[in-house]
Amino acid sequence: MQTFIPVQGGRRKKMMSDSIPLHKEKGLNPHMVKCVYCGEIESIALVGARDKKFRCATCNIVYVGTSKCPQCGTRGEYEGTLEDGEYLSGVCEKCKRDLEHEDVLFKEEIKKGGVYFRCIGCGASGVIIAEHPIAINARKKLGIEAPDPCGAELPNCPNCPERK
Ligand SMILES: [Zn+2]
Ligand SMILES: [Zn+2]
Ligand SMILES: [Zn+2]
Repeated sequence: MQTFIPVQGGRRKKMMSDSIPLHKEKGLNPHMVKCVYCGEIESIALVGARDKKFRCATCNIVYVGTSKCPQCGTRGEYEGTLEDGEYLSGVCEKCKRDLEHEDVLFKEEIKKGGVYFRCIGCGASGVIIAEHPIAINARKKLGIEAPDPCGAELPNCPNCPERK
């Protein structure tokens, strides 16, 4: 389970200035923010008095601050107080760039005839390359020709734990 805090620069800058309500004993109440992808310390978040944790069932994340989920905006469920030394989760600059890069590569592959997939077995998702028989068959079956985007659900994939 991940504790999430928004790490966009603009938002963080705002948190560091006058808008942060101080915690009674802990003051600025700093917590390390760890990248959910590579585990590197991404930054330090000054939580102040806003150290209440909430869980969003829709996004399956735990976040800090207001009860509203930073991703979907719905009201989360109260989870308790942030412990001293507990890490928050974010995405570091490097992984953010990698994710954008991956997204670009995916779109290129789709244009060439690739197919977006989601594995029902393990929940993994990604793109099947254009030359792969599964991609060719899926497009044939669905009657969708490249460069139109096409998606398929698979019962299992090479990442599935039971196939390892
Ligand atoms: Zn990272
Ligand atoms: Zn949410
Ligand atoms: Zn799978």
